[in-house]
Amino acid sequence: MVTITSDFDSGNIDVRDVTDASDINLEIKPDGAADFFQWFFFRVDGADRRPMTIRLKNAYRASYVDGWKNYQAVASYDRENWFRVATSFDGRALTINHRSEAETVYYAYFAPYPTSRYRAKIEQLKTTGRMAHEIVGKTIDGQDIDLFRVGNGGLQFWVIARQHPGETMGSWWIEGLLERLIDPENEAAASLCEKATLNIVPCMNLDGAKRGHLRTNAAGTDLNRAWRNASMEKSPEVYMVRERMRATGVDFFLDVHGDEAIPNNFLDSAQGIPSWNDRHQKLFNRYSARLLDISEDFQTKDGYPASAPGDANLDIANSYVAETWGCLSMTLEMPFKDAEVNPDPDHGWSPERCRKFAGEHLAVMAEIADQIR
Ligand SMILES: [Zn+2]
Repeated sequence: MVTITSDFDSGNIDVRDVTDASDINLEIKPDGAADFFQWFFFRVDGADRRPMTIRLKNAYRASYVDGWKNYQAVASYDRENWFRVATSFDGRALTINHRSEAETVYYAYFAPYPTSRYRAKIEQLKTTGRMAHEIVGKTIDGQDIDLFRVGNGGLQFWVIARQHPGETMGSWWIEGLLERLIDPENEAAASLCEKATLNIVPCMNLDGAKRGHLRTNAAGTDLNRAWRNASMEKSPEVYMVRERMRATGVDFFLDVHGDEAIPNNFLDSAQGIPSWNDRHQKLFNRYSARLLDISEDFQTKDGYPASAPGDANLDIANSYVAETWGCLSMTLEMPFKDAEVNPDPDHGWSPERCRKFAGEHLAVMAEIADQIR
C-alpha cells in the first residue's frame, strides 16, 4: 500500500486520496498566513516498482501557473541526487508519472534545501575559521538568522538568498559561493577579499523554509515586498538585516532568487528607481557582459521587462538598496525548469549547476570590484 507524507522539514503536501496508485490525488498547501502556493515536497512509501500517477489537483490555482509549462518535477531516493521525472500540466492538474526503483521516493518542485541541511552547513563553515559568523537576530519562530563576513577590503559587498523560501536554488548557489570563499586556492576569492568585505546572509526566510512555504514568512509577509516599511512584528528578517546594512553601508548588492516561469538565468537591475543614472546602467551592463563572457548558463535575452523611469517598487530589496546606497544592486533569477541556453534534460537546472554558477559570479565580482565606486 502506498502512503504519502510531508511531515518533515520543508515538506508540503495535502493528501486527498492514495487508495489507487494509478490515480493518486494530492493538493499543494498554501503558505500558512498567505494564499501563495507552488512549492511541494513529499515522500512516498510503498512505491516499489509500481507505476504511479500522481496528480496535484489544485495546480491550476498555484501562484505562477506559467511555471507548469514545460516543467518536470524532481525526484530522489536519497535526497542527495535529484533527477527529473515525466510531468505534464493539462490546465487543471499537474501530473507526475513515475515508476519508482525503490520502496521510498521523494518528489519536489526543485531540489529541496531544508533548514536541517542549512544548519549542518553553517556549523561546518564556522569550524573552518575562515569567516566571521554572527547572529543578526531571531525569526518569528525563534530561528537564528546567520551572517557570514569575510575579507579585509573597505568595499562592502552584500549577498542574500532565500527571501522566498520555495526558491531553494538560492541556497544551492550560496553554498557554491561560500565553499569557494573558504577555499585558500581560489584566486577570485583571494582577490575579492583584498578589495572588499563580503557580508552574506545565506537564508533570509528560515521560517518559511522550515514550514514548506513558497513565498512568505511565519507572519505571511513576502519579505521581498517589505524593504521600505520593514517591521519587527511582520518582517523582522528584513528589519534586522537592513539595520546591519545601515551599520556597514553597501557598495554592491546581489539578491538571489528563482523564477517559476522563465526557463533561463537572468539578472534584474534596479532600473526605474528615482535616482537611476548612466553610472548605474554602465555598472549593470559591465557585470552582465562579463558574466555572459564567463558563464555558458547565463543569457541576457529572457528576463523581466524594464521598469519605466520612476516606476521601481522600492519595497523590493534590489530597488531599495540601489536607491538608498546608490550602488550596483541586482536580483539574480535562476530557473525551476532548465536553462534553455545550455539544457540538461536529466537534471534540468540543478544544485550542481547552481554551485558552479556562483563561482562564475564570484569571478565577475572580483573583476569589477575596482570599478564600482
Ligand atoms: Zn523570489
